[in-house]
Amino acid sequence: MGEDVCSKASLAGAHFATVITSWVPSHIGVRGNTVADRAAAEAHSLPSPIDMTTDLTDSLTNLQTTCNRHWDNELTDALQYTSLGRIRHDTRHHWWTHSPSRALDTAVNRLRIGHTRLNAHLHKLGMTADPHCPWCPTYPDTPEHLLLQCPRHHSHRTALLQSLYPLLLRRPTLADLLGGSPDPGLAFKILKHTRTFLQKSGQLHRI
Ligand SMILES: [Zn+2]
Repeated sequence: MGEDVCSKASLAGAHFATVITSWVPSHIGVRGNTVADRAAAEAHSLPSPIDMTTDLTDSLTNLQTTCNRHWDNELTDALQYTSLGRIRHDTRHHWWTHSPSRALDTAVNRLRIGHTRLNAHLHKLGMTADPHCPWCPTYPDTPEHLLLQCPRHHSHRTALLQSLYPLLLRRPTLADLLGGSPDPGLAFKILKHTRTFLQKSGQLHRI
């Protein structure tokens, strides 16, 4: 190999320039380098003091926390533009919206998201000409009107309000009645009374 380099060097030098070759001692005889090489070789032969098996529990927990936080932020932004945003503010499971009655669950969830068969919503969809309450010709037929205002259901509303007194809820909002309380226990109790109102007022078929 040395001859090959020399012949190429002399060929290049014959045509273009002077080539000078010189011997470089590399690391031979450098004591520090020898010691470092030996230490590295010994390290390879020793068992690793680090347990390389990785416990993924913490990683998965962190991933889940990060995903939930991201989803909460996204959902909070999106909810601002929906009826549900008045009631729901994060990704927590609202278990209190479930009951043994599928008909009542459907009604409650329709009222929460604002997509009902009440005239105001049907009117928005172009499915009815009149957006007003069947008994109140000047009031839009909305979830608020049905639950909080319509005189047609006055007696049932009075019973509902009386049942909420022990819960220290004197002037409930629509969000309160539909399980929007940040206290899950309170939301559960209120929604139970709201279901009674919906059932006794005979309006499930309109929701
Ligand atoms: Zn009415």
